[in-house]
Amino acid sequence: FSEVQTLAITDALTGIFNRRHFYHLAEQEVKRSIRYGKPLSLIIADLDYFKKINDTYGHPVGDQVLVEVASRITEVIRNADILGRYGGEEFVLLLPETDLENAKILAERVRKSISELSIRVDQREVRITISLGIACLDQGVTSLDSLLQFSDQALYQAKNNGRNRVSTFSRENE
Ligand code: GH3
Ligand code: MG
Ligand code: MG
Repeated sequence: FSEVQTLAITDALTGIFNRRHFYHLAEQEVKRSIRYGKPLSLIIADLDYFKKINDTYGHPVGDQVLVEVASRITEVIRNADILGRYGGEEFVLLLPETDLENAKILAERVRKSISELSIRVDQREVRITISLGIACLDQGVTSLDSLLQFSDQALYQAKNNGRNRVSTFSRENE
């Protein structure tokens, strides 16, 4: 990619895909998975009590945490997985060819690796945790919008259940 192209599709702070480009790639992946009957999972991940990091250490340190979290997630996912910055301290992760069971394994790996991060700022160590919600394509979930909606519901549940955890969407949650 040229520099101009890279700027158009990535988030300036973290270097991962921006929301718009994530949507673009994800729409194609959803269509392809449905057409070929392949599994597809989506994870929304949100940093826990991130506002407190900004309040305690300042906004630039918050930014540094976001950069390190994005980089750590990139390290633990596979090449075919698509990672984007969904919002301020929210990330979205699309897992092609991945069913719910395997998505849970990956989400747990992400959760653990972030909880083990120790980010050095001046003389201090900043720690952070992340909550993750998962949904996958099935009879009732057949579009990108519904994947996002249901993984967001699962994320809400992970937050409510105490944060630093993985939740999956199921009909029982409704
Ligand atoms: P929860 O565990 O419920 O998710 O709590 P939280 O504090 O993470 O959630 P909340 O939505 O209250 O706060 C998110 C904060 O993220 C608020 C906002 O200032 C901060 N934020 C959003 N984008 C950025 C950014 O690019 N850089 C920095 N440093 N902070 C950001
Ligand atoms: Mg948030
Ligand atoms: Mg948060």
